[in-house]
Amino acid sequence: MVENRHKITVGFVPLGCPKNVVDSERMLAEIAQAGFAITTEPDNADVVVVNTCGFIAPAEAESLGAIRHAVDCKRTGAVKKVVVAGCLSEKLGTELARRVEGIDAVIGLAQRDNIAQIIRILSHSSRDSDRKTSDGPIMSPPCRATAGPSTGRVPDDRCRLLITPGHWAYLRISEGCDRRCSFCTIPSIRGRFRSKRPELIRAEAEELVAAGAVELNIIAQDTTYYGRDLKASNGLSALVKELDKVAHLAWLRLMYLYPAGIDKTLIETIAESEKAVRYLDIPIQHVSDSILRSMGRPDTKDKLRRLIENVRCAMPDIVLRTTLMVGFPGETDRQFEELINFVRWARFDALGCFRFYPESGTRAAGLPGQVPDEVKQQRLDELMLTQQKIAFAKNEDRIGQTLRCLVDSVERDGLCRARFYGQAPEIDSVCITRDGRARSGHFIDAKVIAAQDYDLVVEQI
Ligand code: SF4
Repeated sequence: MVENRHKITVGFVPLGCPKNVVDSERMLAEIAQAGFAITTEPDNADVVVVNTCGFIAPAEAESLGAIRHAVDCKRTGAVKKVVVAGCLSEKLGTELARRVEGIDAVIGLAQRDNIAQIIRILSHSSRDSDRKTSDGPIMSPPCRATAGPSTGRVPDDRCRLLITPGHWAYLRISEGCDRRCSFCTIPSIRGRFRSKRPELIRAEAEELVAAGAVELNIIAQDTTYYGRDLKASNGLSALVKELDKVAHLAWLRLMYLYPAGIDKTLIETIAESEKAVRYLDIPIQHVSDSILRSMGRPDTKDKLRRLIENVRCAMPDIVLRTTLMVGFPGETDRQFEELINFVRWARFDALGCFRFYPESGTRAAGLPGQVPDEVKQQRLDELMLTQQKIAFAKNEDRIGQTLRCLVDSVERDGLCRARFYGQAPEIDSVCITRDGRARSGHFIDAKVIAAQDYDLVVEQI
Protein backbone atom coordinates (compact mmCIF):
# COMPACT_ATOMS: atom_id res chain seq x y z
CA MET A 1 0.00 0.00 0.00
CA VAL A 2 2.40 2.64 -1.28
CA GLU A 3 0.76 5.79 0.16
CA ASN A 4 2.19 8.30 -2.25
CA ARG A 5 0.73 6.65 -5.44
CA HIS A 6 -2.83 5.94 -4.42
CA LYS A 7 -4.96 7.02 -1.52
CA ILE A 8 -5.28 4.25 1.01
CA THR A 9 -8.90 3.18 1.04
CA VAL A 10 -10.61 2.50 4.34
CA GLY A 11 -13.85 0.55 4.77
CA PHE A 12 -15.82 0.97 7.98
CA VAL A 13 -18.29 -1.42 9.64
CA PRO A 14 -20.20 0.47 12.36
CA LEU A 15 -21.95 -1.88 14.79
CA GLY A 16 -23.75 -1.42 18.10
CA CYS A 17 -25.78 1.20 19.93
CA PRO A 18 -26.07 4.96 19.34
CA LYS A 19 -23.10 5.56 21.65
CA ASN A 20 -21.04 3.37 19.36
CA VAL A 21 -22.44 5.22 16.34
CA VAL A 22 -20.97 8.42 17.79
CA ASP A 23 -17.60 6.68 18.22
CA SER A 24 -17.80 5.45 14.61
CA GLU A 25 -18.57 8.98 13.41
CA ARG A 26 -15.56 10.35 15.29
CA MET A 27 -13.28 7.67 13.85
CA LEU A 28 -14.60 8.30 10.33
CA ALA A 29 -13.81 12.01 10.72
CA GLU A 30 -10.27 11.21 11.92
CA ILE A 31 -9.77 8.86 8.97
CA ALA A 32 -11.04 11.42 6.44
CA GLN A 33 -9.03 14.27 7.99
CA ALA A 34 -5.89 12.13 7.74
CA GLY A 35 -6.38 11.98 3.98
CA PHE A 36 -7.47 8.35 3.66
CA ALA A 37 -10.26 7.58 1.18
CA ILE A 38 -13.34 6.16 2.85
CA THR A 39 -14.97 3.53 0.67
CA THR A 40 -18.53 2.25 0.85
CA GLU A 41 -17.23 -1.23 0.00
CA PRO A 42 -15.59 -2.62 3.15
CA ASP A 43 -15.15 -5.96 1.35
CA ASN A 44 -12.72 -4.34 -1.04
CA ALA A 45 -10.50 -1.90 0.81
CA ASP A 46 -6.88 -1.52 1.90
CA VAL A 47 -7.95 -1.29 5.54
CA VAL A 48 -11.22 -2.33 7.17
CA VAL A 49 -12.22 -1.02 10.58
CA VAL A 50 -14.87 -2.99 12.45
CA ASN A 51 -16.31 -0.96 15.33
CA THR A 52 -17.72 -3.68 17.53
CA CYS A 53 -20.42 -4.17 20.14
CA GLY A 54 -20.15 -6.67 22.97
CA PHE A 55 -22.85 -6.06 25.55
CA ILE A 56 -24.80 -9.29 25.08
CA ALA A 57 -24.12 -12.62 23.36
CA PRO A 58 -26.03 -11.90 20.08
CA ALA A 59 -24.22 -8.57 19.68
CA GLU A 60 -20.88 -10.28 20.34
CA ALA A 61 -21.70 -12.96 17.78
CA GLU A 62 -22.60 -10.31 15.19
CA SER A 63 -19.30 -8.50 15.83
CA LEU A 64 -17.23 -11.69 15.62
CA GLY A 65 -19.07 -12.52 12.38
CA ALA A 66 -18.17 -9.13 10.90
CA ILE A 67 -14.53 -9.50 11.96
CA ARG A 68 -14.28 -13.01 10.53
CA HIS A 69 -15.83 -11.77 7.28
CA ALA A 70 -13.24 -9.00 7.03
CA VAL A 71 -10.44 -11.49 7.70
CA ASP A 72 -11.84 -13.79 4.99
CA CYS A 73 -11.73 -10.84 2.57
CA LYS A 74 -8.12 -10.34 3.62
CA ARG A 75 -7.33 -13.95 2.79
CA THR A 76 -8.66 -13.42 -0.74
CA GLY A 77 -6.50 -10.28 -1.08
CA ALA A 78 -9.50 -7.93 -1.41
CA VAL A 79 -8.60 -6.42 1.97
CA LYS A 80 -5.07 -5.75 3.26
CA LYS A 81 -5.51 -4.95 6.94
CA VAL A 82 -8.21 -5.51 9.56
CA VAL A 83 -8.60 -3.17 12.55
CA VAL A 84 -11.00 -3.98 15.38
CA ALA A 85 -12.30 -1.24 17.68
CA GLY A 86 -15.16 -0.71 20.09
CA CYS A 87 -16.65 -2.53 23.04
CA LEU A 88 -15.64 -6.07 22.10
CA SER A 89 -12.00 -4.92 21.79
CA GLU A 90 -12.26 -3.29 25.19
CA LYS A 91 -13.97 -6.34 26.67
CA LEU A 92 -11.69 -9.06 25.28
CA GLY A 93 -8.38 -7.28 24.60
CA THR A 94 -5.70 -9.71 23.35
CA GLU A 95 -8.16 -12.60 23.75
CA LEU A 96 -9.90 -11.26 20.63
CA ALA A 97 -6.72 -11.58 18.57
CA ARG A 98 -6.41 -15.16 19.78
CA ARG A 99 -10.03 -15.92 18.90
CA VAL A 100 -9.83 -14.54 15.37
CA GLU A 101 -6.61 -15.23 13.51
CA GLY A 102 -5.66 -12.49 11.06
CA ILE A 103 -6.56 -9.28 12.90
CA ASP A 104 -3.89 -6.59 12.43
CA ALA A 105 -4.87 -4.23 15.23
CA VAL A 106 -7.16 -4.31 18.27
CA ILE A 107 -7.77 -0.86 19.75
CA GLY A 108 -9.52 0.09 22.97
CA LEU A 109 -12.23 2.73 23.45
CA ALA A 110 -9.79 5.38 24.67
CA GLN A 111 -7.71 4.96 21.50
CA ARG A 112 -10.64 5.86 19.27
CA ASP A 113 -9.15 9.21 18.26
CA ASN A 114 -5.83 7.58 17.25
CA ILE A 115 -7.44 5.43 14.56
CA ALA A 116 -5.71 7.31 11.71
CA GLN A 117 -2.30 6.86 13.33
CA ILE A 118 -2.99 3.12 13.70
CA ILE A 119 -3.96 2.89 10.01
CA ARG A 120 -0.84 4.84 9.03
CA ILE A 121 1.38 2.44 11.06
CA LEU A 122 -0.29 -0.55 9.41
CA SER A 123 -0.06 0.94 5.95
CA HIS A 124 3.66 1.41 6.45
CA SER A 125 4.17 -1.96 8.16
CA SER A 126 3.68 -4.16 5.17
CA ARG A 127 3.31 -4.04 1.40
CA ASP A 128 1.13 -7.13 1.24
CA SER A 129 -1.63 -8.28 3.51
CA ASP A 130 -0.62 -11.75 4.62
CA ARG A 131 2.73 -10.86 6.01
CA LYS A 132 1.88 -10.11 9.63
CA THR A 133 3.56 -7.22 11.41
CA SER A 134 6.62 -8.66 13.12
CA ASP A 135 5.20 -9.35 16.58
CA GLY A 136 1.53 -10.02 15.77
CA PRO A 137 -1.39 -7.61 15.83
CA ILE A 138 -1.01 -4.09 17.14
CA MET A 139 -2.61 -3.96 20.57
CA SER A 140 -2.94 -0.30 21.34
CA PRO A 141 -3.38 0.55 25.03
CA PRO A 142 -5.63 0.40 26.97
CA CYS A 143 -6.31 -2.97 25.39
CA ARG A 144 -4.18 -4.67 28.00
CA ALA A 145 -3.62 -8.39 28.24
CA THR A 146 -6.50 -8.52 30.67
CA ALA A 147 -9.42 -6.41 29.56
CA GLY A 148 -10.70 -3.78 31.96
CA PRO A 149 -12.98 -0.75 31.93
CA SER A 150 -11.59 2.37 30.40
CA THR A 151 -11.68 4.89 33.20
CA GLY A 152 -10.17 7.54 30.95
CA ARG A 153 -11.41 10.97 30.09
CA VAL A 154 -14.81 11.79 28.66
CA PRO A 155 -14.63 11.59 24.85
CA ASP A 156 -14.94 14.89 22.97
CA ASP A 157 -17.36 14.01 20.21
CA ARG A 158 -17.10 17.20 18.19
CA CYS A 159 -15.95 17.01 14.56
CA ARG A 160 -17.85 13.92 13.43
CA LEU A 161 -18.48 12.50 10.02
CA LEU A 162 -22.12 11.65 10.54
CA ILE A 163 -23.54 8.25 9.74
CA THR A 164 -26.99 9.59 10.57
CA PRO A 165 -28.64 11.63 7.79
CA GLY A 166 -27.52 15.00 9.18
CA HIS A 167 -30.91 16.57 9.83
CA TRP A 168 -30.88 14.49 12.99
CA ALA A 169 -27.94 13.36 15.09
CA TYR A 170 -27.03 11.77 18.41
CA LEU A 171 -25.70 13.95 21.22
CA ARG A 172 -23.83 11.89 23.80
CA ILE A 173 -23.67 13.64 27.17
CA SER A 174 -21.55 11.21 29.18
CA GLU A 175 -19.59 7.98 29.14
CA GLY A 176 -19.82 4.93 31.36
CA CYS A 177 -22.29 4.04 34.10
CA ASP A 178 -22.29 3.94 37.90
CA ARG A 179 -25.44 1.87 38.18
CA ARG A 180 -24.84 -1.76 38.96
CA CYS A 181 -27.59 -3.72 37.25
CA SER A 182 -26.72 -7.33 37.96
CA PHE A 183 -27.18 -8.46 34.31
CA CYS A 184 -25.19 -5.69 32.65
CA THR A 185 -21.62 -5.75 31.33
CA ILE A 186 -21.54 -2.13 30.18
CA PRO A 187 -19.95 -0.62 33.32
CA SER A 188 -17.16 -3.21 33.05
CA ILE A 189 -16.57 -2.15 29.43
CA ARG A 190 -17.26 1.58 29.38
CA GLY A 191 -16.14 2.30 32.97
CA ARG A 192 -17.39 4.67 35.65
CA PHE A 193 -19.88 7.44 34.83
CA ARG A 194 -18.21 10.57 33.44
CA SER A 195 -20.27 13.59 32.43
CA LYS A 196 -19.21 15.77 29.52
CA ARG A 197 -18.95 19.38 30.65
CA PRO A 198 -22.11 21.32 29.73
CA GLU A 199 -20.19 23.89 27.70
CA LEU A 200 -18.68 21.09 25.60
CA ILE A 201 -22.15 19.61 25.00
CA ARG A 202 -23.51 23.05 24.06
CA ALA A 203 -20.62 23.54 21.61
CA GLU A 204 -21.23 20.09 20.11
CA ALA A 205 -24.95 20.80 19.77
CA GLU A 206 -24.25 24.13 18.07
CA GLU A 207 -21.83 22.38 15.70
CA LEU A 208 -24.39 19.71 14.76
CA VAL A 209 -27.16 22.28 14.27
CA ALA A 210 -24.87 24.50 12.19
CA ALA A 211 -24.26 21.45 10.00
CA GLY A 212 -28.00 20.99 9.45
CA ALA A 213 -29.38 19.04 12.40
CA VAL A 214 -32.86 20.08 13.53
CA GLU A 215 -33.26 17.09 15.87
CA LEU A 216 -30.78 16.03 18.53
CA ASN A 217 -31.22 12.75 20.40
CA ILE A 218 -29.61 12.90 23.82
CA ILE A 219 -27.92 9.60 24.66
CA ALA A 220 -25.88 8.07 27.47
CA GLN A 221 -25.90 4.80 29.39
CA ASP A 222 -28.08 6.66 31.91
CA THR A 223 -28.99 10.24 30.95
CA THR A 224 -30.63 10.95 34.34
CA TYR A 225 -27.26 10.54 36.11
CA TYR A 226 -25.90 13.51 34.19
CA GLY A 227 -23.92 15.99 36.26
CA ARG A 228 -23.70 14.00 39.49
CA ASP A 229 -19.94 13.60 39.08
CA LEU A 230 -19.76 17.36 38.41
CA LYS A 231 -21.55 18.01 41.73
CA ALA A 232 -24.44 19.52 39.74
CA SER A 233 -27.89 18.94 41.23
CA ASN A 234 -30.58 18.43 38.59
CA GLY A 235 -27.81 18.23 36.01
CA LEU A 236 -30.03 16.92 33.21
CA SER A 237 -32.72 19.56 33.82
CA ALA A 238 -30.09 22.31 33.69
CA LEU A 239 -28.69 20.80 30.49
CA VAL A 240 -32.13 20.72 28.81
CA LYS A 241 -32.58 24.41 29.70
CA GLU A 242 -29.14 25.15 28.23
CA LEU A 243 -29.91 23.28 25.00
CA ASP A 244 -33.28 25.02 24.78
CA LYS A 245 -31.21 28.11 23.85
CA VAL A 246 -29.68 26.51 20.75
CA ALA A 247 -31.06 28.47 17.80
CA HIS A 248 -32.51 26.51 14.85
CA LEU A 249 -32.76 23.34 16.94
CA ALA A 250 -36.35 22.10 16.69
CA TRP A 251 -36.43 18.79 18.54
CA LEU A 252 -34.47 17.59 21.58
CA ARG A 253 -35.19 13.96 22.46
CA LEU A 254 -34.28 12.32 25.75
CA MET A 255 -33.27 8.65 25.50
CA TYR A 256 -32.10 6.07 28.11
CA LEU A 257 -33.75 7.64 31.17
CA TYR A 258 -33.22 5.52 34.29
CA PRO A 259 -36.66 5.38 36.01
CA ALA A 260 -35.36 6.08 39.51
CA GLY A 261 -33.47 9.09 38.14
CA ILE A 262 -36.59 10.88 36.88
CA ASP A 263 -37.80 13.40 39.45
CA LYS A 264 -40.42 16.15 39.63
CA THR A 265 -37.92 18.80 38.52
CA LEU A 266 -37.00 16.90 35.36
CA ILE A 267 -40.65 16.25 34.46
CA GLU A 268 -41.44 19.97 34.91
CA THR A 269 -38.39 20.98 32.87
CA ILE A 270 -39.44 18.76 29.96
CA ALA A 271 -43.05 19.96 30.21
CA GLU A 272 -41.93 23.62 30.07
CA SER A 273 -39.18 23.09 27.48
CA GLU A 274 -39.57 24.62 24.02
CA LYS A 275 -37.35 22.05 22.30
CA ALA A 276 -37.66 18.85 24.37
CA VAL A 277 -40.24 16.67 22.61
CA ARG A 278 -43.00 14.93 24.54
CA TYR A 279 -41.26 11.60 24.17
CA LEU A 280 -39.40 9.69 26.86
CA ASP A 281 -37.42 6.46 26.54
CA ILE A 282 -37.50 4.87 30.01
CA PRO A 283 -36.09 1.31 30.13
CA ILE A 284 -37.80 -0.28 33.18
CA GLN A 285 -36.61 -3.86 32.50
CA HIS A 286 -39.24 -5.54 34.73
CA VAL A 287 -42.00 -4.77 37.30
CA SER A 288 -41.86 -7.66 39.74
CA ASP A 289 -40.41 -6.27 42.98
CA SER A 290 -38.33 -9.38 43.70
CA ILE A 291 -36.99 -9.56 40.12
CA LEU A 292 -36.11 -5.84 40.23
CA ARG A 293 -34.30 -6.40 43.54
CA SER A 294 -32.39 -9.31 41.99
CA MET A 295 -31.55 -7.08 39.02
CA GLY A 296 -30.04 -4.58 41.42
CA ARG A 297 -32.53 -1.89 40.44
CA PRO A 298 -34.11 0.37 43.11
CA ASP A 299 -37.52 0.51 41.42
CA THR A 300 -40.72 -1.19 42.57
CA LYS A 301 -43.93 -1.80 40.61
CA ASP A 302 -45.73 0.91 42.57
CA LYS A 303 -42.96 3.43 41.97
CA LEU A 304 -43.00 2.66 38.24
CA ARG A 305 -46.78 2.97 38.11
CA ARG A 306 -46.62 6.32 39.93
CA LEU A 307 -43.84 7.54 37.63
CA ILE A 308 -45.91 6.79 34.52
CA GLU A 309 -48.99 8.42 36.08
CA ASN A 310 -47.00 11.54 37.05
CA VAL A 311 -45.44 11.91 33.62
CA ARG A 312 -48.81 11.46 31.88
CA CYS A 313 -50.47 13.88 34.29
CA ALA A 314 -47.83 16.55 33.60
CA MET A 315 -47.83 15.88 29.82
CA PRO A 316 -51.01 14.13 28.57
CA ASP A 317 -49.59 13.98 25.03
CA ILE A 318 -46.41 12.25 26.19
CA VAL A 319 -45.21 9.26 24.15
CA LEU A 320 -43.49 6.57 26.23
CA ARG A 321 -41.03 3.94 25.05
CA THR A 322 -39.58 1.30 27.33
CA THR A 323 -37.31 -1.75 27.29
CA LEU A 324 -38.12 -4.97 29.13
CA MET A 325 -36.23 -8.16 29.87
CA VAL A 326 -37.79 -11.61 30.06
CA GLY A 327 -36.34 -14.82 31.43
CA PHE A 328 -34.29 -13.25 34.22
CA PRO A 329 -33.05 -15.97 36.58
CA GLY A 330 -35.82 -17.08 38.90
CA GLU A 331 -38.61 -15.46 36.84
CA THR A 332 -41.75 -17.52 37.51
CA ASP A 333 -44.88 -17.79 35.35
CA ARG A 334 -46.64 -15.61 37.94
CA GLN A 335 -43.97 -12.90 37.76
CA PHE A 336 -44.10 -12.96 33.98
CA GLU A 337 -47.89 -12.64 34.16
CA GLU A 338 -47.38 -9.65 36.43
CA LEU A 339 -45.20 -8.08 33.71
CA ILE A 340 -47.75 -8.78 30.98
CA ASN A 341 -50.55 -7.26 33.09
CA PHE A 342 -48.44 -4.15 33.71
CA VAL A 343 -47.81 -3.78 29.97
CA ARG A 344 -51.57 -4.03 29.40
CA TRP A 345 -52.11 -1.30 32.03
CA ALA A 346 -49.27 1.01 30.99
CA ARG A 347 -50.07 0.89 27.26
CA PHE A 348 -46.58 2.03 26.23
CA ASP A 349 -46.42 3.60 22.77
CA ALA A 350 -43.31 1.61 21.90
CA LEU A 351 -41.52 -1.24 23.58
CA GLY A 352 -38.37 -3.26 23.01
CA CYS A 353 -37.79 -6.57 24.75
CA PHE A 354 -34.67 -8.63 25.33
CA ARG A 355 -34.24 -12.19 26.56
CA PHE A 356 -31.88 -12.43 29.55
CA TYR A 357 -28.34 -13.52 28.58
CA PRO A 358 -26.03 -14.81 31.34
CA GLU A 359 -23.08 -12.55 30.46
CA SER A 360 -19.76 -13.72 31.97
CA GLY A 361 -18.58 -11.48 34.77
CA THR A 362 -22.10 -10.35 35.75
CA ARG A 363 -23.72 -11.27 39.08
CA ALA A 364 -26.88 -12.45 37.36
CA ALA A 365 -24.98 -15.04 35.30
CA GLY A 366 -24.34 -16.97 38.50
CA LEU A 367 -27.83 -16.75 39.94
CA PRO A 368 -29.88 -19.92 40.51
CA GLY A 369 -33.07 -20.53 38.57
CA GLN A 370 -31.74 -19.90 35.06
CA VAL A 371 -34.75 -19.99 32.72
CA PRO A 372 -34.63 -22.36 29.71
CA ASP A 373 -34.12 -20.59 26.35
CA GLU A 374 -37.37 -21.87 24.87
CA VAL A 375 -39.31 -20.44 27.83
CA LYS A 376 -37.52 -17.10 27.39
CA GLN A 377 -38.49 -17.07 23.71
CA GLN A 378 -42.12 -17.97 24.45
CA ARG A 379 -42.32 -15.12 26.98
CA LEU A 380 -40.70 -12.66 24.57
CA ASP A 381 -43.12 -13.63 21.80
CA GLU A 382 -46.14 -13.39 24.12
CA LEU A 383 -45.05 -10.00 25.44
CA MET A 384 -44.40 -8.55 21.98
CA LEU A 385 -47.78 -9.86 20.78
CA THR A 386 -49.46 -8.14 23.72
CA GLN A 387 -47.63 -4.91 22.89
CA GLN A 388 -48.46 -5.23 19.18
CA LYS A 389 -52.19 -5.12 19.96
CA ILE A 390 -51.65 -1.98 22.05
CA ALA A 391 -49.49 -0.28 19.41
CA PHE A 392 -51.95 -1.04 16.60
CA ALA A 393 -54.89 0.22 18.68
CA LYS A 394 -53.00 3.42 19.52
CA ASN A 395 -52.32 3.94 15.84
CA GLU A 396 -56.04 3.60 15.08
CA ASP A 397 -56.70 6.29 17.73
CA ARG A 398 -54.39 8.68 15.84
CA ILE A 399 -56.41 8.57 12.60
CA GLY A 400 -57.69 12.08 11.88
CA GLN A 401 -54.99 13.78 13.97
CA THR A 402 -52.74 16.45 12.40
CA LEU A 403 -49.07 15.87 13.14
CA ARG A 404 -45.92 17.90 12.47
CA CYS A 405 -43.49 15.45 10.92
CA LEU A 406 -39.79 15.54 10.14
CA VAL A 407 -39.09 13.99 6.74
CA ASP A 408 -36.29 11.43 6.91
CA SER A 409 -36.26 10.17 3.33
CA VAL A 410 -38.02 10.56 -0.02
CA GLU A 411 -37.68 7.69 -2.51
CA ARG A 412 -37.66 8.16 -6.29
CA ASP A 413 -41.21 6.83 -6.45
CA GLY A 414 -42.29 9.58 -4.04
CA LEU A 415 -42.55 7.28 -1.04
CA CYS A 416 -41.70 9.49 1.90
CA ARG A 417 -40.81 8.32 5.39
CA ALA A 418 -41.19 10.85 8.16
CA ARG A 419 -41.61 10.91 11.96
CA PHE A 420 -43.77 12.88 14.31
CA TYR A 421 -42.35 13.82 17.74
CA GLY A 422 -43.52 10.47 19.12
CA GLN A 423 -41.22 8.44 16.88
CA ALA A 424 -37.49 8.22 17.57
CA PRO A 425 -35.17 7.54 14.63
CA GLU A 426 -34.05 4.01 13.82
CA ILE A 427 -35.95 2.25 16.64
CA ASP A 428 -39.57 3.39 16.28
CA SER A 429 -42.23 3.23 13.58
CA VAL A 430 -42.63 5.93 10.95
CA CYS A 431 -45.20 8.05 9.12
CA ILE A 432 -45.57 7.15 5.47
CA THR A 433 -46.84 9.42 2.71
CA ARG A 434 -46.59 9.61 -1.03
CA ASP A 435 -46.39 13.34 -1.57
CA GLY A 436 -43.85 14.69 -4.01
CA ARG A 437 -43.67 17.99 -2.15
CA ALA A 438 -41.86 16.54 0.88
CA ARG A 439 -38.12 17.15 1.19
CA SER A 440 -35.73 15.20 3.42
CA GLY A 441 -34.75 17.12 6.55
CA HIS A 442 -37.78 19.39 6.38
CA PHE A 443 -40.92 19.47 8.49
CA ILE A 444 -44.38 18.91 7.03
CA ASP A 445 -47.82 19.15 8.60
CA ALA A 446 -49.76 16.00 7.85
CA LYS A 447 -53.08 14.38 8.66
CA VAL A 448 -53.19 10.72 9.73
CA ILE A 449 -55.45 8.93 7.25
CA ALA A 450 -54.73 5.28 8.13
CA ALA A 451 -52.71 2.89 10.27
CA GLN A 452 -50.47 0.32 8.61
CA ASP A 453 -49.26 -2.14 11.26
CA TYR A 454 -46.86 -0.16 13.45
CA ASP A 455 -46.66 2.74 10.95
CA LEU A 456 -49.01 5.64 10.26
CA VAL A 457 -50.14 6.65 6.79
CA VAL A 458 -50.36 10.43 6.55
CA GLU A 459 -51.39 13.01 3.97
CA GLN A 460 -49.56 16.33 3.74
CA ILE A 461 -51.87 19.32 4.36
S1 SF4 B 1 -28.18 1.61 33.85
FE1 SF4 B 1 -27.94 -0.56 34.26
S2 SF4 B 1 -28.45 -1.52 32.29
FE2 SF4 B 1 -28.00 0.63 31.86
S3 SF4 B 1 -25.81 0.68 31.34
FE3 SF4 B 1 -26.01 1.12 33.52
S4 SF4 B 1 -25.73 -0.87 34.54
FE4 SF4 B 1 -26.21 -1.25 32.37
